[in-house]
Amino acid sequence: MNHLMEKYKLCEFCGISTHQIRKYFFKCPKCKNIYNKSYQTIAYEDTYFETEYKKQYGKSYIDDKKNIQLKMQYRLNRIKPILQDFSGKKLLEIGSAAGFFLEIANENGFISKGWEISTYMSEYANQNGNTTIQGNFLDLLDHEKNDQYDVISAFYVIEHFTDQKKIWEGFQRLLKKGGLLLLAVPSYFGPAFYFHKDEWDKNHPKDHYIDYSPYGIKTVCNLFGFKKLLIYTEGLHPERFLLGNVFFLKYFYSIIQKTFNFSDTIYIVLKKSN
Ligand SMILES: [Zn+2]
Repeated sequence: MNHLMEKYKLCEFCGISTHQIRKYFFKCPKCKNIYNKSYQTIAYEDTYFETEYKKQYGKSYIDDKKNIQLKMQYRLNRIKPILQDFSGKKLLEIGSAAGFFLEIANENGFISKGWEISTYMSEYANQNGNTTIQGNFLDLLDHEKNDQYDVISAFYVIEHFTDQKKIWEGFQRLLKKGGLLLLAVPSYFGPAFYFHKDEWDKNHPKDHYIDYSPYGIKTVCNLFGFKKLLIYTEGLHPERFLLGNVFFLKYFYSIIQKTFNFSDTIYIVLKKSN
């Protein structure tokens, strides 16, 4: 086995040895993030969104624009009390897909730009009036000036990369001091990981290298000079708990999920503090 293939054995952030917790998953005892031993890259080319998204949601990403933008507006509403005014502020979205968030961000007053790996998606976004650069996140990072963005967003993107440290250094470098980093990530601190172990292991996307949690995010924030401002659950699934379809339990579990951010997916707002 070569060196790169055993990368998961050492924590990306603190460098100490990870512990095997399940057949393909290793956890850092200090940072609490989980690394995927069976990680594989996949080609995010033209058909990725159309096939993968359709498989999960029953319609193509582009056909689901209205729902996706509702969710995105909700994410922006969460930061309104922090930034007050969005007008003229610079926003970079990493993994901007068809440009739906860029469009909403511009409507809210931002001057937004996106990076997108899929040629098909970036062309689609640009044809619809957005500004997108096609390319790989890690390559594009090197061509950007320091301290220039007020907001950087990456929704369900960072978990795909093995080079986590470089990504966080990039966020830190490109954001202005006091700028916001908006992330949406899968979190193992949720009902799927704890109550549906076999399914979680079996359905874990091969192209996700790392699984964060609210605690894991906090430790990484400290390393890279970010302050955690907000965490929200991105979708409540009380039915994933034991007897979660029973009416009063459903209500109870939803409260638990919101209170403890015990959710399979989370939305996080971080502030660059130095
Ligand atoms: Zn660690």
